[in-house]
Amino acid sequence: MFKSIRTQISSLFVLFIVLIEIAAAIASVFITVHHYHKNFSDAVSNTFTPEFKSSITETANTAVTETSADGTNGIVITDSSPVIVDNLSKMILAYRDLLSINRSSDLFILDRSGSVLYSSRGEQVTESSAVIDNALAGVESISGGFLSSAIDYAFPVMSGSDVKYVIYLKDSLVLQKEVLQRHAANSLFLIIVSALLSYIIGNIIASKVTAPIKTVSDQARRLAAGEYTVLSRFDHYSEIADLKESFVFLANSKKEHADKETAEKRKIETILENMNDGILAFDMNGALTHINREAQRLLNRKFVDDITFNNFFKEINVDITLESLQYLNSRASVEKEISINDNVLQMSFASFSQNSEGGVIVIIHDITKQDKLEHARQDFVANVSHELRTPLTVIKSYADMLADTPDANADIRTRFLNTISSETDRMTKIIEDLLTLSQLDVNASYERPSDDINIRSMLEGLVERLSLSAKKKNQELTYTPTNDIPMITGDRDGLERVFTNIITNALKYTPSGGSINIFTSCVFNDILIKVRDNGIGIPEDKLPKIFDRFYRVDKARSRDKGGTGLGLAIAKQTIETSFNGKILITSKLNKGTEVVIKIPLPKKN
Ligand code: ADP
Repeated sequence: MFKSIRTQISSLFVLFIVLIEIAAAIASVFITVHHYHKNFSDAVSNTFTPEFKSSITETANTAVTETSADGTNGIVITDSSPVIVDNLSKMILAYRDLLSINRSSDLFILDRSGSVLYSSRGEQVTESSAVIDNALAGVESISGGFLSSAIDYAFPVMSGSDVKYVIYLKDSLVLQKEVLQRHAANSLFLIIVSALLSYIIGNIIASKVTAPIKTVSDQARRLAAGEYTVLSRFDHYSEIADLKESFVFLANSKKEHADKETAEKRKIETILENMNDGILAFDMNGALTHINREAQRLLNRKFVDDITFNNFFKEINVDITLESLQYLNSRASVEKEISINDNVLQMSFASFSQNSEGGVIVIIHDITKQDKLEHARQDFVANVSHELRTPLTVIKSYADMLADTPDANADIRTRFLNTISSETDRMTKIIEDLLTLSQLDVNASYERPSDDINIRSMLEGLVERLSLSAKKKNQELTYTPTNDIPMITGDRDGLERVFTNIITNALKYTPSGGSINIFTSCVFNDILIKVRDNGIGIPEDKLPKIFDRFYRVDKARSRDKGGTGLGLAIAKQTIETSFNGKILITSKLNKGTEVVIKIPLPKKN
């Protein structure tokens, strides 16, 4: 009910004023009562001085001459002598003004039994009173508590040790009551008027105080809603202005904080979005709170609204649950590896917690390349070992046999030694090829030779050198330059090695009577070199592997023809890294093969 400051202030103000009025009224009651009581006791003590009291006693005990009923005069001293009572009353009534007799107080003279002998108002009896009882017992006393309806005084007039009369004064406080009633009426009127007035004034003051508070609280509400510029400065000093200053300060620091937070958030979002790794974040209940582009790409998910931790990882066959991560040390993580769409993904799960907030972060790393490289490396080592072991086994067994049969005839010895020599050549060729490959691997990132190369004369020379072996197999080996080929610069030995390998392959894998035709042309910005044969060809399913290191379509056949399976790998590496070109093979089984080398000309400025 009294919730608003405005009501509280005006109510307190009214209460305060009314309380002051009531206190003033009570104080005035006390002052009035005190005044009348003091007046009475002052009048009594000023009148009934010791001298006055002893002269009263004396008068009461002095014999008086009274005319008796029969008309004779005589001296009488009686307890109820009307003359004495009259004398006594006269003595006291001499002080009537001081004692307010017949205005507010009454005078009684009582005999020793308490009967009224004289009353200033002519009353025959008096109400019982403690002071009368005291006086009848010989003790003078004055009464009048604050709340009593009357104040009275009684003085015993003694005759010897006996009480002869009692002088009794009683003020019924009529005047006091009248004054108090007037006071009460005035006070009530005053209280009502001042309550009304104070309510109005209180309201005015309260609205003066609360209006700026209301403004500030409205502005504070808008500030909380993010309207940071809503607060303006007060142009004069007051507590409210001070409060507003504090709000302005708070608003500025909050804005600064919010700006910083937004910038920080954007920074983190940008980092997350542009990371090469996929990131997923889940809250404690397993709901997805963040997923970056890379994670969507790697997981092949366009729509992510339905992702929840346990369901999602179960769906992609990752054996992990949110519950199992909850008690994980904050520095620890759980690693899992899965394959999705030919990609090998490494997932790292880490949980975090901050007060009651927390969740799980999943980092997805695409390790497909590393995985392939690792497999390639393992295959390569296995292939090298295998390729070297074969000639070594032959060499060792032939050498052992020669050692075991020292008396073998010269023919056998020569044959054995020839085999050992040719196997050694084979090993040397493999090692040379491997060295060439590793050199090319290194050269891919280092400086390459820049010799002047005339492709046409290089091919003409090669055809001339190989024409003898072609002739031996009754093969036709031709070279047709379609148009002029410009000179290029680059690794001359490397290019010659490539051409040699491709032409030799064509000769090797083309039966006797077949033909091998070489063409060169310059088309637009490319030099094209074609080596076409009508040999055994390559099965279609083997074509994609033809450039792999140590790959041979028919191992035994290739071995017989002195092949290592490294030639095309070297050719591809050389053309791509040293000449920025391309090498393509098309082939039809039993029909023939065509190898096309495309070398781009350097761009003219
Ligand atoms: P190799 O030393 O065995 O010839 P290459 O890397 O040069 O090794 O060739 C790889 C394989 O490709 C060969 O073993 C062969 O099976 C096949 N090949 C290459 N050129 C031809 C061709 N002109 N005709 C048919 N098969 C070929």
